[in-house]
Amino acid sequence: MNEYRVGVIGAGTMGAGIALVCARQGYSVKLLDANEETLERAKQYFHSTLTKDVTKGKISEEQKAKTIQLINPIARIEELHDRTIIVEAVPERLELKKSLFQQLAKICSEKTLLLSNTSSISITAIAGSLAHPERVLGLHFFNPAPVMPLVEVIRGKQSSEENVQATYQFAKKLAKVPVMATDTPGFIVNRVARPYYNEALRILGDGVAEVEQIDRIMKRAGGFKMGPFELQDMIGIDINFATTQTVFQDFFYEGRFKPSRIQERMVQAGNLGRKTGEGFYDYS
Ligand code: NAD
Repeated sequence: MNEYRVGVIGAGTMGAGIALVCARQGYSVKLLDANEETLERAKQYFHSTLTKDVTKGKISEEQKAKTIQLINPIARIEELHDRTIIVEAVPERLELKKSLFQQLAKICSEKTLLLSNTSSISITAIAGSLAHPERVLGLHFFNPAPVMPLVEVIRGKQSSEENVQATYQFAKKLAKVPVMATDTPGFIVNRVARPYYNEALRILGDGVAEVEQIDRIMKRAGGFKMGPFELQDMIGIDINFATTQTVFQDFFYEGRFKPSRIQERMVQAGNLGRKTGEGFYDYS
């Protein structure tokens, strides 16, 4: 079934996973990244993940080859001109996302759905001043995208009902469980999650307990699958910090969402978690 031709922008933590989710459902994917090494890493990730699927007997060698063939890594945004759906997964910066969407509006058909995987940035702000803002929505996957069933479909102020339905159906075709969210800071999940990270960082900053202790308590006594620091390392400290900053700013600086200086220093030092080999834990 090839009703969707997908473009994914950003082949990092989320983009690579999203590309794999789409290809596994049989959709052709063009995967764009500004960094050649990241594209190479994404290719290795597809290969190793699908090899594991073969070993576990979930798919055949032939299916693996077919899925890999469906993903076409690209280096120029113009190559996205023939896509019917684009999912953007570049870093959490409004100006970067806006500039990409401006370019896409020129390159793609006005019917192409332009979706952002943003964790917290206002969809209305991304769509503002764009030609045909009615086709801009949020489609927020969770990390790791191939594993987590939930996706948030975020309706911007100008998103049309038709496109909301189309995005919802797309998420269902990807075998995900979509929930509708309105365009408010952090949407649903990241709004709920902010206090989880922030309070853990405050406990650490106040010297009440160490990283490993807090993670262990939340898992063993709290029933969480991962502790707040393990999660930050998996998400990327930069992404987590940027999300908290946006939510704080967009709630007009309500104290309960205030970002942590511990995170800020880690971002400044380039200790971003698993992706750089060092975060709250050492991955070297
Ligand atoms: P990441 O840093 O792992 O990857 C971003 C990628 O975008 C990088 O490979 C970078 O080279 C590429 N990029 C930057 N500018 C580009 C451009 N102009 N053109 C093409 N590629 C470009 O980031 P991530 O963790 O995958 O996050 C991406 C988005 O997904 C963010 O908006 C983030 O908030 C959101 N998100 C992240 C998570 C998570 O757990 N990491 C979960 C849900 C949503």
